[in-house]
Amino acid sequence: MPESGVRRVILPARYVQGSGVLSQLGSHVRQYGTRPFVVAGRTSFSKVKARVQASLLAAGVPVVAYDDSVGECTMAKINEIAARADELDVDVVVGCGGGKAVDTAKAVAEKLHVPAITVPTQCATNADGMADAVIFTEDHRFVQDLYLSRAPVLVLVDTDVVARAPPQYLVQGMGDALASAFEKPAYAASQRMKKAADQATEAALEVNLRCFSVLMAHGLQAKKDVEAGKVTDSVEAVVEAIKLMSGFGFGGGGCAAAHAVHNGLTIIPGIARKHGEIVAYGVLVQMVLEKRQMGEIERVMRWCKSLGLPTRLRDLGEIDRGQLLAAAEKACDPTDSMSSMPFAVTPRMVLEAIEEVERLGTALS
Ligand SMILES: [Zn+2]
Repeated sequence: MPESGVRRVILPARYVQGSGVLSQLGSHVRQYGTRPFVVAGRTSFSKVKARVQASLLAAGVPVVAYDDSVGECTMAKINEIAARADELDVDVVVGCGGGKAVDTAKAVAEKLHVPAITVPTQCATNADGMADAVIFTEDHRFVQDLYLSRAPVLVLVDTDVVARAPPQYLVQGMGDALASAFEKPAYAASQRMKKAADQATEAALEVNLRCFSVLMAHGLQAKKDVEAGKVTDSVEAVVEAIKLMSGFGFGGGGCAAAHAVHNGLTIIPGIARKHGEIVAYGVLVQMVLEKRQMGEIERVMRWCKSLGLPTRLRDLGEIDRGQLLAAAEKACDPTDSMSSMPFAVTPRMVLEAIEEVERLGTALS
């Protein structure tokens, strides 16, 4: 192994985003197979089912079968769908829906050794272009991050579809994407220090910076536009930041303190927020841990507040001091991504950083 390690990214071969592009699905699918199988969640699929089927039929590659029963992305569900699709001689898998549906579809495609295509119906996740599937139990307990040999061959994002999902999804996606600009540089620095086998690419670091500036410039406008039912340039820019840029930026590893803080906080039963919202709070904690300039922290905090992302503990839910201590300890678990920070972080440091965020958040409100 050379001392400089290996730089590696796994990317989708094609990314198509725009208003109404769902009608192009069939002509894209036809380039990869003739027997498409659709994997979806029931509610999300009901909104696009007619258009998906019509586009595939018009292109001469009608749906062989579909499974819209994905609730959680579990190994049992992946195996069950893969067995059925295998019997049907499926040669391309289309995942349609949120993170759980597309993750299930990608894992099914991997099992069958056929290409995966993802068609997101909302923006809470950047899972669509990633070469992994996050596996849960039936009752939503994390099992593993299953690494796949390749990313989907196509990510098709119809902005008319994703902009019609509840606006909170877009905000959650922005919260998660925000983390890429902070966690990836921290991860990259720690990998360099460790002379680790896997090193971040310059390209990913650069894309993350651009992702951050797009979120800062267009985030609030995009939320307002989606609330008003409009697909504007700001909406397009933010959707790209979430779906393409943050996926590219995180690809190949890249979580650090923000996701570790999320993983710690989610052991508390009273936490009432979603993944991207808690991660955004974790970004604020990471910024304090990194001793970033106060003006920089306040800028991100104001942005979070303007979007309705949590900036104080009370925004996250019911938390007592004992639970907070347990969460800080969990965040520093050696198997978690806190170990990707370029300096050692203790539970005490996490608690102090949370207290500092609390102080700043209260002063801002
Ligand atoms: Zn995340």
